[in-house]
Amino acid sequence: MTATLIDGKAFAARLRQGIAGQVDAMRARGITPGLAVVLVGEDPASQVYVRAKGKQTREVGMTSFEHRLPADTSERDLLALIGRLNDDPAVNGILVQLPLPEHMDEAAIINAVDPAKDVDGFHILNVGLLATGQKAMVPCTPLGCLMMLRDHLGDLSGRRAVVVGRSNIVGKPMAQLLLRDSATVTIAHSRTQDLPSLCREADILVAAVGRPGFVKGDWIKPGATVIDVGINRTPDGLVGDVDFEAARAVAGAITPVPGGVGPMTIACLLANTLTATARKNDLPDPE
Ligand code: NDP
Repeated sequence: MTATLIDGKAFAARLRQGIAGQVDAMRARGITPGLAVVLVGEDPASQVYVRAKGKQTREVGMTSFEHRLPADTSERDLLALIGRLNDDPAVNGILVQLPLPEHMDEAAIINAVDPAKDVDGFHILNVGLLATGQKAMVPCTPLGCLMMLRDHLGDLSGRRAVVVGRSNIVGKPMAQLLLRDSATVTIAHSRTQDLPSLCREADILVAAVGRPGFVKGDWIKPGATVIDVGINRTPDGLVGDVDFEAARAVAGAITPVPGGVGPMTIACLLANTLTATARKNDLPDPE
């Protein structure tokens, strides 16, 4: 038996369609959601992401503001730009593309963004709100993973979830979201002992490691749902953190790379921008 493929690309297209409809309704009331993306430097992967984000922002009817700054921009100048975007009523969401150049204090930059416009959900206030079960802006990649899990499994309550990776961007917020949905969550990382046995206990296995094919087929519990967050560029093209072919023979369902988590991430960025716009205008949160 081979696993069901969880089609993130199709899911993201449906999500964007729904967002476009809601943007239309907002525009009819004179409100146009705006997303500002700031890119510092010329990291090739970041350039690809920023271009895709701008294109999809415009496609759903939102305004896209793109700010490209040279790699040697001072932290002071970047903070000044963020200040202007915070004050700009046409900007509802602000995303500073990571990673930033080495000479910048990433935490200081992230925490300079108005938390209400922090569509990446990385501001310390949003991290705290999520951790305490309050209304927060939720990081896009784990939010997309959660949507696919809920869609495929329904209620996540009581399920055993293992998240491999503890980054602030993926692993930790993923674990918080699963916990909020009452899964029993374990977070694994590079110091975890006997990772294969731990993974074999998981009904839900999320891999966010950054190593091609790291999770082997025999680490997977038969029938488990596997979410592969990894994006690794190899001579054979883009591959995930899971040994896909081997995993597919054991898992119940799995996200492919590409076409799984990646497209959902950008769709969730648009969803967060819509949410930020709704909250700013005292409208109910979008569905
Ligand atoms: P980080 O490098 O920040 O974190 C990787 C995590 O994996 C760390 O917590 C690390 O543990 C853990 N790890 C590394 N080696 C091992 C090991 N041998 N055993 C167990 N755990 C290990 O990466 P990110 O979280 O930012 O990203 C993870 C992957 O997801 C990358 O491939 C990235 O490209 C991709 N990604 C995809 C996105 C998408 O839209 N689809 C968005 C964001 C990321 P420790 O903390 O102990 O070092």
